[in-house]
Formats: sequence, structure tokens, C-alpha cells
Amino acid sequence: MTRTVRAATGTTLTAKNWQSEAALRMFHNNLDPDVAERPEDLVVYGGTGKAARDWASFDAITRELSTLDADETLLVQSGKPVGVFRTHEWAPRVILANSNLVGDWATWPEFRRLESLGLTMYGQMTAGSWIYIGTQGILQGTYETFAAVAHKRFGGTLAGTLTLTAGLGGMGGAQPLAVTMNDGVALVVECDPTRAQRRLETRYLDELATDIEDAMRRVTAAKAERRALSVGLIGNAAEVLPKLLEAGLEVDIVTDQTSAHDPLAYLPLGIEVDDWGDYAAKKPDEFTDRSRESMAEHVEAMLGFMDRGAEVFDYGNSLRGEAKLGGCERAFDFPGFVPAYIRPLFCEGKGPFRWAALSGDPADIAATDRAILELFPENESLARWIKLAGERVAFQGLPSRICWLGYGERHLAGLRFNEMVASGELSAPIVIGRDHLDSGSVASPYRETEGMADGSDAIADWPLLNAMINTASGASWVSIHHGGGVGMGRSIHAGQVCVADGTELAARKLERVLTNDPGMGVIRHVDAGYEEASAVANDRGVHIPMAVA
Ligand code: NAD
Repeated sequence: MTRTVRAATGTTLTAKNWQSEAALRMFHNNLDPDVAERPEDLVVYGGTGKAARDWASFDAITRELSTLDADETLLVQSGKPVGVFRTHEWAPRVILANSNLVGDWATWPEFRRLESLGLTMYGQMTAGSWIYIGTQGILQGTYETFAAVAHKRFGGTLAGTLTLTAGLGGMGGAQPLAVTMNDGVALVVECDPTRAQRRLETRYLDELATDIEDAMRRVTAAKAERRALSVGLIGNAAEVLPKLLEAGLEVDIVTDQTSAHDPLAYLPLGIEVDDWGDYAAKKPDEFTDRSRESMAEHVEAMLGFMDRGAEVFDYGNSLRGEAKLGGCERAFDFPGFVPAYIRPLFCEGKGPFRWAALSGDPADIAATDRAILELFPENESLARWIKLAGERVAFQGLPSRICWLGYGERHLAGLRFNEMVASGELSAPIVIGRDHLDSGSVASPYRETEGMADGSDAIADWPLLNAMINTASGASWVSIHHGGGVGMGRSIHAGQVCVADGTELAARKLERVLTNDPGMGVIRHVDAGYEEASAVANDRGVHIPMAVA
């Protein structure tokens, strides 16, 4: 039986209070067919990132959130509700731990063995922590990244440049729109036609080419005319990229967002999309070997473009690590996107701040957009983003917005939203959270913490401290996950979500959480020796006991 899940909307509570109502609506929103990639399997995005372990757990979580009191806390262990305890009203309503394994056991085969026994699930970052908001969530980060590439290499604009990439899934689907928002041309290879179709329907992708020659013709013409355009091409990246290299296509930027972090979620050469699931399930080891070999060919082609002068970077999916295992010796010759473009933002505690309107009314998001523009009038790139997002982003599920704000900014937005709920300017409470990919909430040596100045890439105390300080500060739900983004054994990360329900209590919680959470990013980067972070700490008064003056 296929079940369709959608979040409740409007102002009538289905739970006992807005804190647990918010968790319930966002949990259901993660599985909305307009939001999730494979809702029938409870998969939200990112390969197999799930919102609940199984449908029985889904029903039990729904039931518990509906009856939870304002001084109770629900514990969720890898997508299964395992206990409810009496706590207090400042405590989170839900505490979640997803996919965590002890170090020596933190491998995909062991994880899958435990998963097949029904003991765990893969939570990705915002799937198992119920704050995924569809492809928009990654759109702004991708937009910022391509803007940074434009500034670094192309005089501040992607006009007249061609970006070649692959993957049109939940995250990867943001790439074509992020490139065209920066005025560039994008060619995106995707092996599954249904994924490409979905991006066309939501206007993230402009056109679909019929074959390689057709794709080359379209992107070459648009590049020559300096016309923004995104073109999808159905094919296997490990086959198409070498062909494009051989054909001499002039590419300026190359990256990738296939689900390379999980070898079973990357389609190897010579396998049809229709046979994928069956083969991966029946022969995971053989499939993994083939997948890694194909990734090695894929990365060899990327290196070929790099050798010809293109800007090439790993977009946080572990492609280099897997390609290296598949025999590509030079895989790490190109950098990850965080050290290349994002770390200076992290030093300011900046990261993907996001919020959703629990009313379900797009007018509430339009009002919050105006509030953000009023709050930060000097920030031009933020204003450009909010305007473009308002025009071009199709909402999926509950209307939502994302923008990158840092330390000293996020709490101002939270407090303003809370006032707007209290005054009736917004028709229902706003839920405020972020990705786990943030400045002080993740240890991930192939991505967010790659190449830290002091070599502390693999130190995972920081995300744990982050979760604990958010719990102590009044967040509505807090999560600690393992393996998101880059796969088993490669990351530990934490998330928080809080609720602006218009009450005085919510204002006090929001001020603390939305100060302390980005504050973790500042202190993490001060500790690693980044001068930009020390300047932020000094200017904005972050108390750091052993900071060098
Ligand atoms: P997804 O599973 O929804 O989509 C991956 C897509 O890649 C699918 O559409 C699949 O058909 C396609 N694909 C797989 N193998 C292919 C091949 N050989 N050739 C062409 N297409 C192929 O995953 P997603 O949510 O889009 O995430 C993509 C990757 O990005 C994941 O590894 C994820 O962990 C990572 N990620 C990156 C960031 C970031 O900020 N950079 C953030 C979150 C996740």
C-alpha cells in the first residue's frame, strides 16, 4: 500500500503545543511527495537518507509527538522512537541520534548489516533530523559556492562560462539553477531520466538535450552569447565526461553531485538504471568495486579538464575518496569546496540558516523575506539572493526560505520572526533550523573540516559540544548523526531546530540558541588558528578563555 504523507497546515494544533506540533509537521513535511525523493521508502534525499526507520516507527513517532507534553522529551534512535522522559520546558521536545557507530565498526558493510537487522537507519544530515526543505535548502549554498568561484576566477560573474557537473538528485538538482542565477551555462549529466524530469518540472533545469552532440551544441551557443542556460543530459557521468573531454568541449568549471558517498548509490558503467537496485542489493561487494572503478574513470576525466585549465572541485560527496579506492592515484589533486571557497564564511559563524512557515501560506515567507531585507540592508548579496529566490524558487511542501547568516545576525532574524508571529503579521509559528553542514557543527575531513589550519580535521568533539550547548540553550529538537554527506566513517555532525511561536519563552530560547549555535563556529575556527575568526570573536565579543589576544 502506498501512503501519502503531508504536513498539516493552518493554525489548528494536532499536537499539544507548537513545539511538538512543529516537530510533527516538519517530520511529515520531510516525507511529502513534493519534498522527498523516495517517500514510499521513507527516503528523503542523499542516497538513502531517511526520516524514520520503517512505517511502524513512522506511526509511533507521529503518535508520540501528538501526545507529548510541554515538559516531556521524546528520544529517537536512528529513526525509531525509544523513550519519552519527563524533562522541563526549556529542554528539547525531541532528541535524535542517527547512524552512529563506534569507530572501528564505522564502515558501510557493518552499517548495512545492522540496517538489514532493522537496528539502524541512515539519517543523512537533515533527513533524519526533520529539517530538509527540498532542493532550495542546498540552492543557496550552491549559489554562494558558484558566486565564490566566479569571484576567484572569472571577474565576479559566470557569464560566458560553462560548468560541467553530474547528479540531479535532491541536492544536485540545485546546481543548474545556482549556475544560471550566477549568469552562467550549466551542462548536467544524470543517469535517471525521472530525476531530470523532476528538475524540469520545478524549473531548476531549463532544458533536456536529446544526446551528447545536441547538448554540446546548446551549451556552446549559450556560452558564446553569454546567455544563462542549463541543459540536462541523460547518461552515465563516467562515460559522458571522458567523451566530452575527448570531443574537446571547452569547459571552465567542473564538479559533481552524484551520490558518490555511497558506492551503492552511484551507478557503475555498464549497468542499466532499471537493474541498479536489484544488483546493488544482491551483490553489494561486486557492485561497490565496479562503482569505485567507474568513479575513478569519472575523476580521471575531471583531472583532464583541470589539466586543460578548468576550475575543478569536489562538491562534498566523497567522489575523490571513492575514486582513489577505485585506483585513481591523482584523485586528491583537486580541492574540496570548503577550503577552496567556504571557510572564510565559516570563520564568521556563517552557514545555511533556514526557516519554514508552519501555516503553509507562502505569504508568510514573503513577509519574512521583507523582514530579512529590512534587518540587513547593507548586505547586497543577501538582498540579491532573497530577490532571486522569491522570483525563481518553487516551494516544495511547507513554504520555506534559506539564507546564509552568521554570528550576531541569526538571533536578530529569529527574534523578529517571533515578534511577527506574536503580532499576527505571520499567520502561524515559524520553524527555524539549519543544515548540519555549518560552521561549528560538523567534523568531516573530506568536506567541512578538510585541511584545517591546525590539522584538527578529524576532531569530532566540536559537533558533540554543539549539540550539547544547543540542548542547554533551549532548542526544540537536537540531533547527532554520523556519516552524513560523505558516508560511513567520514563525518560526525549535529543539528538544532527551534520554533518561533510568538511567546516570550520562545524569544528567550531563540536568542540563546541562535547566538550560541553560530558562536560554536566562531570558537571552532579561532581554536584552529584562523585570524578571520579571531577578528569576529574580538569585534562581536565572543568569550574564548584561551584565545591569543
Ligand atoms: P541523490 O541520491 O538524491 O541524487 C544523486 C543523483 O546522482 C541521482 O539522481 C542519481 O541518479 C545520480 N547518479 C548516480 N550515479 C550516477 C552516474 N554514474 N552518472 C550520472 N548520474 C548518476 O543525492 P543528492 O541529495 O543529490 O546528493 C548528492 C551528493 O551530494 C551526495 O553524495 C550528498 O551526500 C552530497 N551532498 C553535498 C552537499 C554539499 O553541500 N555540497 C550537501 C549535502 C549532500
